[in-house]
Amino acid sequence: MSAPVRTTCPYCGTGCGVVARVAADGIAIAGDAAHPANAGRLCVKGSALGETLVPDGRLLYPKLRGADGTLQRTSWDTALDHVAGALRRIIDTHGPDAVAWYVSGQLLTEDYYVANKLVKGYVGTANIDTNSRLCMASAVAGHQRAFGEDIVPVSYEDLEQADLVVLVGSNTAWCHPVLYQRIVAAKAQRPQMKIVVVDPRRTATTDIADLHLPLRPGTDVWLFNGLLAFLHQHGVVDPAFVERHTVGVARALAVADATAGSVRAVASACRIDTSALTEFYRLFARTERVVTAFSMGVNQSSAGTDKVNSIINCHLLTGRIGKPGMGPFSLTGQPNAMGGREVGGLATMLAAHLGLDDARHRALVQRFWNSPRIPTRPGLKAVELFDAIDDGRVKAVWIMATNPVVSLPDADKVKRALKKCELVVVSDVIEHTDTTAYAHVLLPALAWGEKDGTVTNSERRISRQRAFLPAPGEARPDWWMLAEVGKRWGYAEAFRYTGPHQIFDEHARLTAFGNTDDEVPRYLDLAGLVGMDRAAYDALAPVCWPVAAGQAGSRPLRPFADGRFYTPERKARFVPTPPRAPVHACDDDYPLVLNTGRVRDHWHTMTRTGLSPRLATHIAEPYVDLHPQDALLCGVREGELAWVSTRWGRLVARVRSSGELPRRSVFVPIHWNAQYASDARVGALCNPVVDPVSGEPEFKHTPVRVEPF
Ligand code: SF4
Repeated sequence: MSAPVRTTCPYCGTGCGVVARVAADGIAIAGDAAHPANAGRLCVKGSALGETLVPDGRLLYPKLRGADGTLQRTSWDTALDHVAGALRRIIDTHGPDAVAWYVSGQLLTEDYYVANKLVKGYVGTANIDTNSRLCMASAVAGHQRAFGEDIVPVSYEDLEQADLVVLVGSNTAWCHPVLYQRIVAAKAQRPQMKIVVVDPRRTATTDIADLHLPLRPGTDVWLFNGLLAFLHQHGVVDPAFVERHTVGVARALAVADATAGSVRAVASACRIDTSALTEFYRLFARTERVVTAFSMGVNQSSAGTDKVNSIINCHLLTGRIGKPGMGPFSLTGQPNAMGGREVGGLATMLAAHLGLDDARHRALVQRFWNSPRIPTRPGLKAVELFDAIDDGRVKAVWIMATNPVVSLPDADKVKRALKKCELVVVSDVIEHTDTTAYAHVLLPALAWGEKDGTVTNSERRISRQRAFLPAPGEARPDWWMLAEVGKRWGYAEAFRYTGPHQIFDEHARLTAFGNTDDEVPRYLDLAGLVGMDRAAYDALAPVCWPVAAGQAGSRPLRPFADGRFYTPERKARFVPTPPRAPVHACDDDYPLVLNTGRVRDHWHTMTRTGLSPRLATHIAEPYVDLHPQDALLCGVREGELAWVSTRWGRLVARVRSSGELPRRSVFVPIHWNAQYASDARVGALCNPVVDPVSGEPEFKHTPVRVEPF
């Protein structure tokens, strides 16, 4: 057996440390006892990682679509010359906004950094968005509005130290299993710790809830506006904190009072029991150490950003932020959703938490990169980007490490758009996916276990992913492909990287560049990690940012402990959140609400977890879950097949009546695709409405009908 290699799990945002060993009969995987996120624990997906490291279906060589319409093997030079040349022609003819990149939270921070540098600094467009737009863009926008910067103020230790943990729109037990285990263990040690779960569904997570609030889908803002009004009415306010460290409280309170002034009115709007709601409000009011952790049930909404700010408002009013055991906490979905944000991995951001809409920020980044250009306005967000391909504004797209034909809302439109697109480049690990079918150029990427770099988990902890397997075929790192295109455009100096350590060093230097009170202060600061050579980078231990100069290896700093925020006034902002109903209401044709999400043992579009026989045994096929009475009314029966239809598409799934759903709600998992079930892509069902601020789709609320097959 080979020497152990410490790396990081490639699935959820918990970011568990993994120890991998290569043996004659396969890969041995264990939890890393030294990693602060998991202390040796792994969930079933993490522990089955070895089973997914098989050669089946791998894309091993670059391929170009020939005149006969088939994809044919070619050399890297030919493929990259073709990509660089075709993109150049389109940019020269139609301008930089005619090309786009759609990337992924599966990329490593170094891949993300090079992609953003190439696209924003050298192509001169901000048309680079990521599938993280689908899961945490509302949290980013909420943080930026309230704190002036995308800062997560809570760590996993805070969850364990809290006396009340409120889990909102999060099936933590299935989607962040090791984090959930940490909460369970903390509650076992301190039974006085209370857990409240706010979720329309009864899930595995509600098993540890002292109180479950099964609110009507889409009514979270009513709930938290009601809490804000309740706290204010009962004098549960930290006046010194509000006075010294915040702005805008009066307006936020006025909106909360006007829209959710009585518990009875809120209970009616949220369709929950008044006494249960009162119990929650009282519990929150009397408990100082509260963490409100939220996930996709909050973010994936046409009011997602307001939902996030309605939660943050309650923490600001009570001064419950910046101290141990308290604060609002966004649980990120993907292994590197956070790392991507750090290097500007959204069409609305620049690298190092700097903003496209601020001329000083743009000038600072351009100066650091010494780049010929920098875009002056945000680019197209995920759903808009594929709309722009569909209507011909965007003529070329490079899709990296993601499968939008399955995962985007109105996914059939994505198919149509890609079919029309002049140039579709896909870099991926797997050869045949729903998306690679539309590629003109396929570029083989390194997979987990083969690639090297960093990821950042939900608590801002940067960890190394390390290679322990050789590159198969001619697979290459994503950052290398991008740098090679940059070199072909004449930017050899800017993209002369010999390894990910140099890219990380440049990223760290950018976080420190001009990061002073006199220039552009920001909390993301990796000055303490600047100057690592390959050996130091290889040895990098997991560390939470910021890492100021001289602080590497010390205990994590606590954001906002000094009451300093990153808005121009250095104060946190209350954001008024007038409640809005989901955009599409149910009607006679589509009388139920479709909710979508993960199951315990699968990941995204199953290109990896689908390879593990063990993981397939938990839930073997796509299903539609609904209340037994709704099943009766729809004429469908447990175990039989049914059509699930919306205005955007339909699929066939097996009926379940688990008893977990309230009346008028339907749940369909997100994972299955053409490879594993005949076209059960839930994305094809979902409405393409997005939050007006964050651009995050409303995956949790599409009117739907269920009928016998
Ligand atoms: Fe991987 Fe998340 Fe499971 Fe940890 S909890 S092993 S990061 S899937």
